[in-house]
Amino acid sequence: MSLTPNRPDEKSNMTSRYWSDVVRDLSPYSPGEQPKIANLIKLNTNENPYPPSPRVLAAIEGELGNLRLYPDPNSDRLREALAEHFRLSPDQIFVGNGSDEVLAHAFLALLAQDEPVLFPDITYSFYPVYCGLYGIDFEEIPLTDQFGIRLADYRRTNGGIIFPNPNAPTGCAVPVTEIQKLLEHNTESVVVVDEAYVDFGAESAVSLVNQYPNLLIVQTLSKSRSLAGLRVGYAVGDPDLIEALERVKNSFNSYPLDRLAIAGAVEAVADQSYFEQTRQAILTTREMLCSELVVLGFEVLPSSANFVFVRHPKYDAADLQAGLRVRHIIVRHFDRPRIEQFLRITVGSDEHCASLLGALREMVC
Ligand SMILES: *Cc1c(COP(=O)(O)O)cnc(C)c1O
Repeated sequence: MSLTPNRPDEKSNMTSRYWSDVVRDLSPYSPGEQPKIANLIKLNTNENPYPPSPRVLAAIEGELGNLRLYPDPNSDRLREALAEHFRLSPDQIFVGNGSDEVLAHAFLALLAQDEPVLFPDITYSFYPVYCGLYGIDFEEIPLTDQFGIRLADYRRTNGGIIFPNPNAPTGCAVPVTEIQKLLEHNTESVVVVDEAYVDFGAESAVSLVNQYPNLLIVQTLSKSRSLAGLRVGYAVGDPDLIEALERVKNSFNSYPLDRLAIAGAVEAVADQSYFEQTRQAILTTREMLCSELVVLGFEVLPSSANFVFVRHPKYDAADLQAGLRVRHIIVRHFDRPRIEQFLRITVGSDEHCASLLGALREMVC
């Protein structure tokens, strides 16, 4: 049933006779490299260049003495903190071990239906992987020629709709008014909006959850709260949708968030002023980076995220990536149709971006 493309890499033919059929047919996600080499400038996985709030680190330290004990299986303190933050109720919040886990549960709990799930042809490449894992049929809806998501194209029979806003890896956002129009039309299946990067300039659709019982918003502390290493993500939606996620979670792992994660995440949500400060720094750096890249001749898609998606009319993207690597800078390149000439570059600190621009100046002039 699954439409997951089976990429013919070397590994896919090497299977063990001990593997289950499910495992033999999987095409796992490959995350961006986490190099073991020191002194690399890492602009490939959209981590935040700034450290987490000092309040987060203090809270984690304060929790160290309790590691003997299991954590709260329902992470109530964190769900309450998030509920207060969004002015919603805790039964509208689900938390998980990174938003990847929350998304995985959403696919099984809400999107595994008879009709195919719809998502963009160019998007977060974990979505087809989840479909492969759970045997969910999917249809990819092409982005426009300008690499935007046109939500009118999603008005067709479906078992669910999921897209990131802003989209990854393009960085392009859709307005909430467009999401609302989709929800007015699409009432029979769940719409999941993956807002991993929403804090960097897109409008959140959290404001719509009380109005639309089939809307699920997924967010993460990994990017805008500088906590990729803590693994905390969450979903916001109608209690009915949240209960479906809890049923999957409690059939899989009762304690997805450890004590350190719960303690740190509560403070990350509470420390709004630190969040605003670091977010603003990234937005300022992004504007500088975009204009300098344009000066170097790059085409830069409009970014509402903490990364930019760029191509150069004269230089091959894979060559540029390799040249940057030699200069100790790593960026992400996706060898996929339509985007094989693009690079995705995380907005780092001003110093990181200055090094990147310096390296590019050596290569493209
Ligand atoms: C980074 C990312 C996630 C996953 O983030 P977690 O670290 O698992 O919380 C989800 N969706 C998109 C589009 C992302 O880029």
